[in-house]
Amino acid sequence: MKEYQADVLVIGAGPSGAIASALLVQKGWKVAVIERQAFPRFSIGESLLPQCMEFIAEAGMLDAVNEAGFQFKNGAAFEWDGARTAFDFTEKFSAGPGTTFQVQRARFDKLLADEAEKQGAEFFYRHEIVSVEIEPEQSRLIAECDGERVAFNGRFVLDASGFGRVLPRLLDLDRPSDFPARESVFTHVQDNIGEAGFDRNKILITVHPQQRDIWYWLIPFAGGRASLGVVGERETIAALGESPEEILRAAVAAAPNLAATLANAEFDTPVQRITGYSADVKSLIGPGFALLGNAGEFLDPVFSSGVTIAMKSAQLASRCLDRQLRGETVDWQAEFAAPLKAGVDVFKVYVTAWYDGRFQDVIFHPRQQPEIKRMISSILAGYAWDERNPYVASAERRLKTLADICARD
Ligand code: FAD
Repeated sequence: MKEYQADVLVIGAGPSGAIASALLVQKGWKVAVIERQAFPRFSIGESLLPQCMEFIAEAGMLDAVNEAGFQFKNGAAFEWDGARTAFDFTEKFSAGPGTTFQVQRARFDKLLADEAEKQGAEFFYRHEIVSVEIEPEQSRLIAECDGERVAFNGRFVLDASGFGRVLPRLLDLDRPSDFPARESVFTHVQDNIGEAGFDRNKILITVHPQQRDIWYWLIPFAGGRASLGVVGERETIAALGESPEEILRAAVAAAPNLAATLANAEFDTPVQRITGYSADVKSLIGPGFALLGNAGEFLDPVFSSGVTIAMKSAQLASRCLDRQLRGETVDWQAEFAAPLKAGVDVFKVYVTAWYDGRFQDVIFHPRQQPEIKRMISSILAGYAWDERNPYVASAERRLKTLADICARD
């Protein structure tokens, strides 16, 4: 069996793996990234949040991302049965970037991985991790590639395997999510949107006219294409049709304004479905390993927070790991898991309130107080770790008060 030795073994070359590996090679560590697929490969998760531009910059990839020609994004628009509202992320409470991109992930993820490789991380594509021996000081991962086994030995393992959830599965860390099993049905279209005033610089979130827990995304890309998807509880979505394409077409037809926007769209790509993606774990850390991005907790796609959380986890973990590898004592719970979870829990408050309708009442309220809107805009832009924002620091209490006012008013 081939043997390979590195300081850090990263499982998965998605955004969390690419950012973590770049940050660690910058500190002088030898990093191996082990990825089961060949890149470019499709991934869902195409609307970024401005907060993630800070992590991209820290990883030394900002120029490459800015120059790639992705669709510019400056906010989020919402539509529900004729009610329309929009949040401009440049008008936000928190400091930091106010714009970002909408990206085909196949290209975006390859670009990040290539940038990390240029900085010195070693990538092993088409290597699937099939078994692990995790020890506090020296772990061993076994990968399969073309029927051959390869052993990777390293001082620490970062699991960035996304929905592959390698360590949660192999170390029995999985825990059910608090959210019900939802399903998403989605595709890419040639959108042919000729609608006057349609803003390609924003993700459009449409709420189903009657069933407010069903929502749609329309994420315009550069070049006249767009990502289109619908999300709802599994049984509700399944009842819309037999095949994924039937389901998606029926769902769009049920939202007349979205249907009008997409009147000339060409459905030229197979429609896909993904079910039960919300996930949680008993612990994000253990001796010799940490879980990044979707390999840890994944909430819900509604506020496009997944890539931002994935990159935040990469940033926090690489800082801790650098210090640990230098011989310092690191309290991973206090310095990685707790701060990461603080922001995730803020998103969770707003996701929960989206589905029970309270946050939708806030978003669609016809009279929005500008200062409060800037604070909400910050959260929608991904700044869920900015404790100076009262809607972050006291998310549950502030949101409840605001939703009560909106419901009365
Ligand atoms: P990933 O990007 O999933 O990368 C994990 C990598 O690990 C993959 O390349 C995989 O091949 C590899 N891997 C898996 N198993 C193994 C193995 N055994 N061995 C080796 N390699 C392995 N997020 C957003 O920010 N914006 C959005 O608009 C958005 N929309 C979404 C819509 C839906 C319906 C869903 C379900 C999610 C959405 N997300 C969105 C979330 C987003 O997809 C993820 O949060 C993000 O991709 C997580 O990045 P990651 O680096 O953790 O994992």
